[in-house]
Amino acid sequence: MIWIAGGLFGASLQMIAEYEVMSFDYDLLVIGAGSGGLAASKRAASYGAKVAIIEGDLVGGTCVIRGCVPKKLMVYASAFSQLYDNAVGYGWEKVEPKFDWGKMITAVDAEVRRLSQLHIGFLEKAGVELIRGLGQFVDPHTVAVGDRKISADKILIAVGGEAERINIPGIEYAITSREIFLLKEQPKRMAIIGGGYIAVEFACIMRGLGSDVNLIIRRDLVLRGFDEDIRTAVQEGMVKKGINIIPETLVRGIEKTPEGLKLTLSGDGEPLLVDAVLCATGRKPNVTGLELERVGVEVHKGANRQVGGAIAVTVDSCTNVPNIYAVGDCTDRVNLTPVAIAEGRAFADTVFGHQPRYISHHNVPSAVFTQPEAASVGMTEGEARAKYGDANIKIYRARFRPMFYSLTGADEKAMLKLIVLGETERVIGVHMVGKDAAEIIQGMAIPVVMGATKKDFDATTAIHPTVAEEFVTMR
Ligand code: NDP
Repeated sequence: MIWIAGGLFGASLQMIAEYEVMSFDYDLLVIGAGSGGLAASKRAASYGAKVAIIEGDLVGGTCVIRGCVPKKLMVYASAFSQLYDNAVGYGWEKVEPKFDWGKMITAVDAEVRRLSQLHIGFLEKAGVELIRGLGQFVDPHTVAVGDRKISADKILIAVGGEAERINIPGIEYAITSREIFLLKEQPKRMAIIGGGYIAVEFACIMRGLGSDVNLIIRRDLVLRGFDEDIRTAVQEGMVKKGINIIPETLVRGIEKTPEGLKLTLSGDGEPLLVDAVLCATGRKPNVTGLELERVGVEVHKGANRQVGGAIAVTVDSCTNVPNIYAVGDCTDRVNLTPVAIAEGRAFADTVFGHQPRYISHHNVPSAVFTQPEAASVGMTEGEARAKYGDANIKIYRARFRPMFYSLTGADEKAMLKLIVLGETERVIGVHMVGKDAAEIIQGMAIPVVMGATKKDFDATTAIHPTVAEEFVTMR
């Protein structure tokens, strides 16, 4: 396709003099076939753009290959042990469950590969060309993949993130969330470093599958950034399931011994002996090797809570180089799959569909697939009080044992919480810990985004008996 560089309208006389005709291989070249890149490439192609996407790994990105999808399958696998226990209270005979790790890993891997193939089919159907390999910038309009040089009018960087390891002696013995899906054997004794999403989710998965789990966190509570009631309820629930949480502790080093991996801890903590260590201390943008410096794309320096190396973008995902854009985890805005997809589609609508729009990063609901599960939308109580003052904030909270557990004897609690603002009592935060919290909060996100008030919640008829009915009956 032929593109004219420098528009005739509004162009300076000099630009008109330099008027030239440039020809590119593609209208859009996307680097990275993960959630954001796939969504953007297909949407751009739907507007008639000639699009190619570069990928050096399985198509699908972190979410499909080594994130949300295989993780959730493992969450399902791990939940059975508790279901077997609970069934006894309902009259079922006790079963002695036997779990086969190899069988689960093989089944999960097969599903991941099926989904990856499905995404390749979606690309073909959309008319997007898949180029295998790793992309490296040559100039603002050219990317090299091996010996091949590919030019494009617009380039979208959607390379995602990668797990980061802490810098301690022996960290090479630790695995990250990349490797855990590939372990040939189930570690019977496990240590997990970190208290974020990945650490707590895998602590619960591995415990549910029968491993002894030690979770080492540097604070007193897991899940910094979440509402305090969520943090407390999740942590209490994890302890009840038998997870050994070691708070306010750092791992000083890991040593390989004949008995297993030995972790030295800060303070008076006894060394831990385990079969595997999972380092889940955060992720960083996967930009190494792109040669961003060569084309002058700016990255964040690591100040103001923005992770270092993240690509700096405007609200419409444009970098400081006008024809280069970036979406998803490599920009470190809100690192969630649906956000990357929304950013990718908004980019394509704006640039190729001529419907300029950008997405809001406020009121983004999210869930933590722990056992018990947690989910939230809107502000935490702490954020709301800091922003609006104590006098303007009212809290509605319920904590109770859901009916399901009344016959099982299990000491399980659900926590539901509404944060409302001012005289109108607009609902600005909804938080829940308990079974199906993610499914329930997905529905609750709609009234929060629409600006509903407590009165609107109260005017909604309850579905009885459910846990979620508490959201419309709280006093
Ligand atoms: P997070 O940033 O969520 O958590 C990192 C954890 O590691 C924090 O508890 C942090 O402690 C701790 N940590 C960091 N550095 C050190 C250190 N040097 N020593 C000890 N502890 C340390 O990262 P994750 O890797 O868990 O997840 C990455 C992102 O992936 C998330 O932000 C989320 O966006 C996404 N994700 C989403 C999921 C979902 O939606 N269900 C599931 C999994 C991932 P501190 O709090 O003190 O900083």
